[in-house]
Amino acid sequence: MMRSVVVVSVDGLSSVDLPHLESLPNFRELIQCGSYCRDMRGIYPTQTYPLHASLITGCYPHRHGVHANTLFQPGRSSPDWHWFRSFLRVPPLYELATRAGLPTASLLWPGAARSRNRYVIPEIKTTRPGQCFPFLLLSSGSPLFILQMAIRYRSLLKGLEYVYLDNFTTAVASHLIRRRKTNLLLIHHLDLDGTRHRFGFRAPEIQKVLEDHDLRIGTLLAASRSSGIFEHTTFIVFGDHAYIDVHTRVRINAAFREAGLLELDAKGRLISWKAWANCCEGSAQISLQDPTDRTVHEALAELFARLKDARLDVVETVYPRDQIESMRLGDHLDYIVEARAGCYFIPDIEGEVVEPAEPGFRAVHGYHPDRPGYGSLFFAAGSGIRRGVQLEAMRIVDIGPTLAALLGLQLPDPEGRVLTEILDSR
Ligand SMILES: [Zn+2]
Repeated sequence: MMRSVVVVSVDGLSSVDLPHLESLPNFRELIQCGSYCRDMRGIYPTQTYPLHASLITGCYPHRHGVHANTLFQPGRSSPDWHWFRSFLRVPPLYELATRAGLPTASLLWPGAARSRNRYVIPEIKTTRPGQCFPFLLLSSGSPLFILQMAIRYRSLLKGLEYVYLDNFTTAVASHLIRRRKTNLLLIHHLDLDGTRHRFGFRAPEIQKVLEDHDLRIGTLLAASRSSGIFEHTTFIVFGDHAYIDVHTRVRINAAFREAGLLELDAKGRLISWKAWANCCEGSAQISLQDPTDRTVHEALAELFARLKDARLDVVETVYPRDQIESMRLGDHLDYIVEARAGCYFIPDIEGEVVEPAEPGFRAVHGYHPDRPGYGSLFFAAGSGIRRGVQLEAMRIVDIGPTLAALLGLQLPDPEGRVLTEILDSR
């Protein structure tokens, strides 16, 4: 019988959660029956979309093209996100599986809107006035399937808050598992991420949310057992990044405006720009209109020095182009600015450059992945996985090649590796 792989991305599940997870029955089952890594490293920036693009292609952003959550759109304080499959420049694993005749599903999976998975519930939000959310949702996914599932599990959809969405996608995933509909099932859970942003990285509220996620894993394990395919199913559960608690927001594009690098019309709309920062919360990616313009580099050097000095102290590191090359992010960036821990960047042109954090916004990610204590968790159990292997280290780009191996596939020229230590070759 062909193997079935169930992949659950618990957004924001990080290394600090391990002690609590070890006390919860379903995570404990994954740990005891399978293999895990307590310190998986992400990619720069540690944002959900580039991380998911990296894990599903096995490549870094310079190859797959998703270098941040949002697109580079100078002048927009609410830029569009990399919602769609078409933004990936290399084929994701789910497409290889589809081509090989294996049915796939993506449930709120980042970057899989308008993909060719057999069952798609897209993760997408409106970012512009006049957009119609139901239309956007249905036209970016599998409309009939979404409607059928929304009717079948309507009692779970008490709202669009993350806790209800996670309960809903768990019910949909269980439905697909019970009916043996897919060989690759990708699920993205959101409540932990939402709770950490709102209450803080280690807030007391996290405990209950982890318990809820444990119950959801239990629901999926039970669905697999009742379907009779448990022995042929692999479960992969992981988190994409950790967080740092914040107290200060930085409007770096407002600083560019003050330095004369942006030109606005009378209504405050951007007419022209010499430098623009695509903000990734813990870091900001800066491109110059003309990278050879020395006066702009000089103006930025002065500005960075001001943001770094003891009075403001909101920037920790400035990476110039020659250092960015080794980060495998692509060649379109002139600088990356890493915020001081506790500070984060937002894209607004107007407003104070440095201000206290937005009320009700306590923790962010997007910082450099190699910051200490910034790892995430990876668990694998079930068909094809060895019992009791603890990986000392792995990178998130290793997930895609390993999933491919479990499905008898191979990603084309990945930068991550197959985690052969955890695979049972029998
Ligand atoms: Zn995330």
